[in-house]
Amino acid sequence: MRPSFLSKLVNGPLFDPVVHVKILNERTSLLFDCGWFQGLANREVLRLHALFISHMHMDHFIGFDRILRVILHREHPIHVYGPEGSTEKIILKLQAYSWNLTQNYPLDVIIHEVGPTAVITTHASARSGFQVSSMHNRERSSHTIARQGRFHVDAVVLDHNIPTLGFVLREPFHIHILGDVLREKGYRTGTWIGLLKTCILEDRLEEMIPVRMSQGETLCKARTLMHEIVRTSRGQKLVYITDIRFSQTNIDRIKEIALDPDILFVEAYYLHELRERAYEKGHLTAQQAGHLGKELGAKKLVPMHVSPRYHHRMRDILAEISHAMEKD
Ligand SMILES: [Zn+2]
Ligand SMILES: [Zn+2]
Repeated sequence: MRPSFLSKLVNGPLFDPVVHVKILNERTSLLFDCGWFQGLANREVLRLHALFISHMHMDHFIGFDRILRVILHREHPIHVYGPEGSTEKIILKLQAYSWNLTQNYPLDVIIHEVGPTAVITTHASARSGFQVSSMHNRERSSHTIARQGRFHVDAVVLDHNIPTLGFVLREPFHIHILGDVLREKGYRTGTWIGLLKTCILEDRLEEMIPVRMSQGETLCKARTLMHEIVRTSRGQKLVYITDIRFSQTNIDRIKEIALDPDILFVEAYYLHELRERAYEKGHLTAQQAGHLGKELGAKKLVPMHVSPRYHHRMRDILAEISHAMEKD
């Protein structure tokens, strides 16, 4: 299956957690946590549509300053999703600078504070020096906190001594184009295929699509094309879990949204020898990360956020994870 999401653990497993996801065939991308990072070019930062911040510890949010600086002249807003209390912290951070020269800057920062039962959305604009211009509160009717044609993001509130968010990025379903039928019909590939996929994902099936032919083009209804040349299957699923206590409540909450992921990005902060300290600090050991991967049925596990005390023992971290994943 050709993936729709291309993900990268920007700082590797040893440093601040930052996962970058490109939505393929779209000029948009997402970031899960933004600790200190350098491994993304400014042109990639400019394409960020949304940041999903698990919690507001410094190692998960210090990179926001770099993002803000790069996108400050941008017309598209940036969406920032964070846990309870994040609105105030983000606004305070924005207001820590002097903004007397930005009256003509169009950038809007849209903050979505995700609680267990509601999401509070707040707008702040560069024009006004990031004063809050509007705020509204909506009840959460499902786990989904962000939705566009190509992707949905679900979130649950987890415990890290403070509330932290666990995220799932998923494709509603995956669309395959049947190449042999395409050829039989005399259709030529082109940008119309991207338009068709968007129409299907956004349920705009009455829309007319300009289909490229060997000579010129012909208009076909999205619904007709969907029946002729499309097959659908389960979509891609990426899970991002960091800075959580290994407790049954946390595991059960994660399972509500994160079963059968293609990739699980998960912290492996300590070795199991420090499991008591891990519990106290609200972190996972490598063995617990592996256990979580097994419980969820993860096809692939990417460990991250390994404590500096274990940077020279990465082999032991990996061994604990694989042993826990293989265990019956
Ligand atoms: Zn933390
Ligand atoms: Zn952390």
